[in-house]
Parts: sequence; structure tokens; C-alpha cells
Amino acid sequence: MVRESAEERLLANAAKTRRLAQAYLISASGAEQARRTARDFLQSIFCESGTGCGACLECRKFRDGNQVDYLELGGGAIRLDDVRQVPDFIKKKSAGGRYKCIYIEDAHQMNVQSQNYLLKSMEEPEEGVVFVLSTNQPEKLLSTVISRCLWIRLRPLSRAALRERLEGKIPPERQEACIALCGGSWAEALRLAEDDELFDIRETAAEVCRHFAGRKNPSLFEMETRILSHEKRILDMLFAMAGLFRDGLYWKMTGETALLSNPDQRETAEMLAEHFTTSALRYIIEILLERYEKKQSFPGYKNKLMVEGMLFQIMEVKAA
Ligand SMILES: [Zn+2]
Repeated sequence: MVRESAEERLLANAAKTRRLAQAYLISASGAEQARRTARDFLQSIFCESGTGCGACLECRKFRDGNQVDYLELGGGAIRLDDVRQVPDFIKKKSAGGRYKCIYIEDAHQMNVQSQNYLLKSMEEPEEGVVFVLSTNQPEKLLSTVISRCLWIRLRPLSRAALRERLEGKIPPERQEACIALCGGSWAEALRLAEDDELFDIRETAAEVCRHFAGRKNPSLFEMETRILSHEKRILDMLFAMAGLFRDGLYWKMTGETALLSNPDQRETAEMLAEHFTTSALRYIIEILLERYEKKQSFPGYKNKLMVEGMLFQIMEVKAA
């Protein structure tokens, strides 16, 4: 039996007892966790038994996108024209005769104008209308919007709690890595587990790191080719490499494995720890993260140029 957090229990009880607030704001450090929790909650509101059973007609309508008493906005920038649908939707008579729900996914995507417009609808509560907003950036919401909502803050889960919750839902060989990388969000862990390319990227990153640590004269060309084989997701590649070097540093300083960010790549971490000094590891992490940030700020930054410059710098550390 998986233990629910107090926040999840509150939502489940509200749906079950049909004692609903007019508006909910669900926030989490990961957007995916906030979204999944919001959708589960919405399904429970429509569900005939208030549990989100998944089997009743109302649950199925919701899941299949056929719930007419439901309006969903989001999946990118939320413009004023999108939010303008809300008053009409509220005016319409409910088809199911119970609740009408408006879900705003990634509510921080609303600009100030859209938020102010939405606020007008929220300020005139209608019987049976429930607003649900999800976000991982609540600081971007107007305080006037936040104050209309019952704010549910989902907290990150411990590794032990995640293990309990994800048991059997993630392939065992991926479980520990997903738990370490998900930032305490079970929803994010599930998403990561399905990302096959990410696991390829992590494997390639580990190969590059081992090649670099294990060879007296590592081949720049070989490392560059491997890194650029995932050119479309170069940021994930840089992040994976930085994570491995960070694990190397962590291992070197503590000799502990419990909190590695890549528990499935322990050998790579050990190898990096063995071949580099503490300050070399720190310096390499800095180089990787610096390129990561630069690429993030300037997506046009040429990958080949960036990777070559970066490897050249890292090679100098090896030679020193
Ligand atoms: Zn149901």
C-alpha cells in the first residue's frame, strides 16, 4: 500500500466527499508531477464514485478527452484569446449535471493580461465550477490569482518513498537512476523511465568519461564523435557528463555510494575518482556546466565548435 502525502490526501478527500473549493493551485518542483496530480484530481471530480476509479463512464470520458464539462488550456503559451473561452464555458449548462472544470496546465504560461482576464471569472464563483491550475513556477503567477486558489504544494519525496511508490512500475534496471534523477517527483521518474534515448545518452556519456579517464592519450576525435552522435539532445549529454564527474568527485570525497546521481554508473564514478584529483574534477564539472549554460542561453551556438573547445580544455586538465 503506497502512502499518500498529506497534500494528495486532501485532494482525494475533497473529490470523494464532493466538498470542493472553487479553485485549486497545484505546484511542485517538477511540472510533470503537478500536471499528473492535477489530472488525477480532475478525473476524481468527474468520477461517479469520486475516486478516479478509471472504470466508470465519467472516468472513461475524461481519460478519452470526451468530457464535455471540461475545458483544458495550456500546452504552450496561454494567450488572452485562449482564456477568453472561459466565460462562455462557464455559462453553458453542465451536460453531466454535476461539475464543470477548467484546467490550466502550466499556469505560469499565462501572461499578466491573461491572468487578469481569468481572475475576473474566478472572482464571480459559479455553483459547480472548479478551476484547477498546475505549475512548477508559482512565482510567475499574480498574487491576486494565487489568493483565489487553495494552494496545494507538493513536496519532493525521499528516495525510499519513491522506491515504494514506483515498485513494479519502472523496469528494475532503470529504477535507481530514475529515482536519483527525478528531483523527488514520482511523475518525473515515470517520465524518465520511458525516455529510451536518455538512457542511450547516459550510456554514451559514461563511455566518453571512461575513455577519457582510462586512456593515457584519449582520442579527441572519438570523444567528439560520440558526444555529437546525440547532437539533438546535446544539453542532456552535457548534463549527463557533468553528473558523472560530480559523482566521481562525490565518491572521492566521501567514499559513499548512497547518494550518487547515477547509481547505475558506479564504476564510471570510481574510475573518474581514481584518475583525477579533486581540483581537476571540480574544474571539469565547471567546464561542462559552463558550456551547458551557454548553449541554453544561445541555442544557435554551434555544437561542433562548442564540443571541440570544451574537449580541448578538458584535455589540458588531463595533461597537467
Ligand atoms: Zn470513475
